[in-house]
Order: sequence, then structure tokens, then C-alpha cells
Amino acid sequence: MANMEKLTQFQQEMLRCNRCGYCQAVCPIYDVLRLEPITARGRIQLLRAVSEGKLPISELVSYYIYRCTDCQSCRVSCPGGVRIDQIFASARELIADNEFLPTGLSELEQRVRSTHNISGEPSENRLLWAENLEVKPEGLVGKEGAEVVLFTGCVSALYPMAYGILQDLVEILEAANVDFTTLGTEEWCCGYPLLSAGLPISDLVTHNLDRVKALGAKTLVTTCPSCYHMWKYHYTPDSLRVMHSTQFLAELVEAGKVPLRPVEMRVTYHDPCDLGRKSEVYDAPRQLMESIPGLDFVEMEDHGENAMCCGGGGNLETVDAELSGAVARLRLEQAQAVGAQAIVSACQQCERTLAMAARRNKSRIKVMDVVQLLRKALSEEETER
Ligand code: SF4
Ligand code: SF4
Repeated sequence: MANMEKLTQFQQEMLRCNRCGYCQAVCPIYDVLRLEPITARGRIQLLRAVSEGKLPISELVSYYIYRCTDCQSCRVSCPGGVRIDQIFASARELIADNEFLPTGLSELEQRVRSTHNISGEPSENRLLWAENLEVKPEGLVGKEGAEVVLFTGCVSALYPMAYGILQDLVEILEAANVDFTTLGTEEWCCGYPLLSAGLPISDLVTHNLDRVKALGAKTLVTTCPSCYHMWKYHYTPDSLRVMHSTQFLAELVEAGKVPLRPVEMRVTYHDPCDLGRKSEVYDAPRQLMESIPGLDFVEMEDHGENAMCCGGGGNLETVDAELSGAVARLRLEQAQAVGAQAIVSACQQCERTLAMAARRNKSRIKVMDVVQLLRKALSEEETER
């Protein structure tokens, strides 16, 4: 069985775990459930037993492996540098291959395979976010030779609560005279949710790569850290600069193309795991916030490489929404502890998860994207040009 061989190849890596427990101290799932088999240390012991034929792959193994946000806090805090991420990825492939995928993930796979997005809506709906733009930019869809292709991502393009992020980004790009386009209804899910579940994604990668190449853009920009991570580290297109929106906007601001007026607000920044620990983008969002006059920026106790996950990663919301919400509440409490009026992030999934937690916990804290904060600061004359 090919995937069992793959896990077996990690036996030496698993043996490198000295059971010190540093991973337990940083695991947000352990913070909620307090179960040893849920920690990286515990999972490694389970997977060692599976790889040695001492424990069958089962519902129980699946339960422990998928109660994880794939936040990689354990990886960065492991003193031995055990590649926990690779061991877990291999385990998920094995579990998916043996039909022990949690039901929610099987349903997610069916939606993505049939509609090419995570919501299950028809592809035509991918452009609904653009319907109420005051001025719809010429060349918004499929403009060959545009400098920049904007890869919108499933959450921004298909979940109404996130439409505003793309709308604000478009207004900033227009104000800065950026020549951009999108794939429109031809965009498919980047594949991250399926890859993270242990499922194959080559059809999605090939489709998106072909469509983007056909447009001939030099730069791909996306507001979604998962899409960014996929394009940067899995698609790896030749001669295409892949940028997260925060990086692209930081360059525009530095070049003086986005004049900013003061915003009086106390904000904190939530580092998305896919952008921070997995892609090492920590500075660009902070540079953007520092460039806004009047903004009172404060860090949470856990930030940067040590940031706590919002609870929405690794498809956890699909597998166990209650657990995801319990983790989100812990993160919300960290933001409240520093007196922030708003949690700013750079990931639409983190923002959904944190906004739901704020609502459930009756918190008045706002949750917004860096793009929305920047749009708020964009001087009115620029948007009226
Ligand atoms: S931190 Fe690393 S070495 Fe220590 S128990 Fe966890 S996985 Fe093992
Ligand atoms: S990836 Fe995150 S949630 Fe999963 S075991 Fe490691 S620290 Fe815990």
C-alpha cells in the first residue's frame, strides 16, 4: 500500500521525538481538550504504532489526527526539529486512502470535485462580489496581458461576509492605477483544503496554472494565505511573482501610490498560520499598519512565529465546529486582554472564525482584514479620481 510505505519512511523521523512535551505547551487543541493523544507527541506515538503494524488505521486514529488545526506551532517549538508537519501530512493521506476520512471532509471533497469551490455554489457565483462595485473596472475578468492577476480565493469570492475585502482591494488597486484582472468564473479552488485533508489535487493545480499562464500576467496577488501558500510553494510557476496582498500593498504604499489619512483606533494583528509559520510573511501586514497615521497598534501575548491559531485551520471547522469555536475563543481573549477595538488579520478564514467567536461570546470587538483597514485609511480624493 503506497501511502503506508510513505508513513513508514517517516519512522526514523518519528524516532527522533524525545517526548519532551514542548509541543504540548503550544498546542491550541490541547489547551481545550487536555488529551495527551491529541498532542504532536501523542500522535507521533500513535502513528509509530500504525507504521509498525501494531495498531490498525481506524476511526479512533482518524479522530485524533483530524482534531488538529495544522497550525504548526508544534513544529516551530520542537527543539529537535522533528518534521511533525510532514509526518501528519503523510498520516492524513494514509487515512484518506483507507476511507477513514471524517464525513465533513468527504462532503467537502465532493463539493470541490463537482463545483470547483468549497461552498458548493455554481461557478457563476464567483463574480457576485463584484456586482455592487460602484465602478466595475474594465478588464476585471480575463484581460490578457494585464500586469497582475488577482486570484480571489473561495472564501472571499463566495462568502458574502468577505465580499468587502475584494471590493476594498479593487478600489485600492484602481486608486493606485494598477493594471489587473481576475480569472472570473474560470478560477477553481486552489486545492489547499483537499491537500490539507490528505487528498489529491493535481486536477485543480493544472487547471489554475493553465488559466493564469494564458493571461500572461507577471504577478499573481491573492488575499488568501492558503492560496498564497499553494501558489508559492506547490504550484511554483516559472516567471510569475507570487505575492500575498499585504506584500503587494506594502510595496504600493512604500512607492507613495496609496496616500493615507489617519485612523484613530487601537488594533492588534492576528498572524494567520498559513501566512506566518507556513510562509514566513510576518512583516508586510505590520508595515502596512505602521504606515497608517494615528493607528494604535499593539501585539497580543502570542504573536509572530508564536501566534496562537484562530481555530479555523486544517479544516477543523468542517470536522468539529465546536472545537474550532473553543480555540477561537482563546484567541479572542488574547485580543481582548490588550484592549484592542479590532482584530486585524490577513486571512478570510481566520476572520470568519474570529468574527463568529466574537458574536457567540457577545464581544464588541471588530474583526477586519488589513485590506479593509487600508481602504478605511485611503484618502477620499484618491478614490474619487
Ligand atoms: S516537541 Fe518535538 S521532540 Fe518534544 S515531544 Fe513534541 S514532537 Fe517530540
Ligand atoms: S499542528 Fe497545531 S493543533 Fe495540530 S498538533 Fe500541532 S500545535 Fe496542535
